[in-house]
Amino acid sequence: MKIGFIGLGNMGAPMAANLAKAGYKVTGFDTAGTTAEGVANAASAQDAVKGAGVVITMLPNGAILQTVAREIIPHMTKGATLIDCSTVDVDSAKIVAEEAENAKILFVDAPVSGGIGGASGGTLTFMAGGTDDAFASASPFFDIMGQKAVHCGAAGAGQAAKICNNMILGVTMIATCEAFALADKLGLDRQKMFDVVSTSSGYSWSMNAYCPAPGIGPQSPADNDYKPGFAAELMLKDLGLSQQAAESADADTPMGALARAIYQQFVENEGGKGRDFSAMLPRFEARSRDH
Ligand code: NAD
Repeated sequence: MKIGFIGLGNMGAPMAANLAKAGYKVTGFDTAGTTAEGVANAASAQDAVKGAGVVITMLPNGAILQTVAREIIPHMTKGATLIDCSTVDVDSAKIVAEEAENAKILFVDAPVSGGIGGASGGTLTFMAGGTDDAFASASPFFDIMGQKAVHCGAAGAGQAAKICNNMILGVTMIATCEAFALADKLGLDRQKMFDVVSTSSGYSWSMNAYCPAPGIGPQSPADNDYKPGFAAELMLKDLGLSQQAAESADADTPMGALARAIYQQFVENEGGKGRDFSAMLPRFEARSRDH
């Protein structure tokens, strides 16, 4: 079966390469002219999707996804499957799902967790939204590009799960970093702080698996001068999407809102852009109570 792949960036290129490695004929397209190992390059998005049984998109945001979807859906084979793996707003996912359905295309929104390492290692987690049929036809490809796929519900449910997860992540990373900075000022040894919290009720993925303190816990971007990893500006993007969703669903999310404001300040005014999102720790360390 032929696969079309639109968006060969940091994530898309290794994902497309893994599909090619698994024996599929993959044709890719990216406006930046990027390529991926084993993947043929098409001259346009329309060319990449012609005759494909499955089309995968891995794009920067919802506006671009909607534009690309309008370009490609009319050129896709009826009954083919469109899998969007980008992180986008819930409304864009639902709009594209409806346009696909009207054209007799199966659609799954399937954002991922696992970052660039997960994309190249084929160990991503997919959070999927769509019909049972759409999820079933996408599943073999999730198996190649990842290690787990959860069918979260109807169209948009994958994006909803992704932004809720990342809202928790943003909040817990800030909480973990401010607690480390307080512990420092209280004269607590960082290793002791880790030993206690990682096995007590303050534990979390941010502390246990991605510890923001250099030299403590498992290897993480903190051990590599906070090179991403997961860049602070990508966390800001996801926190923005969760606030957008909270507004449209009338949900009260004060911690998510504050996390977004803190990451925005960090990225836009405090040199956080291009640093890992766990560089929140040196940011707090450098501050006093009245900043
Ligand atoms: P990226 O910017 O490296 O890749 C996006 C690619 O899309 C670029 O190469 C760009 O040229 C291409 N593109 C833009 N407009 C296009 C168009 N109209 N037609 C074809 N190609 C177009 O970004 P990335 O890091 O690969 O992330 C992709 C998506 O995955 C984003 O939605 C991001 O939020 C999400 N994501 C990223 C990570 C990560 O760690 N990088 C982790 C999880 C999810």
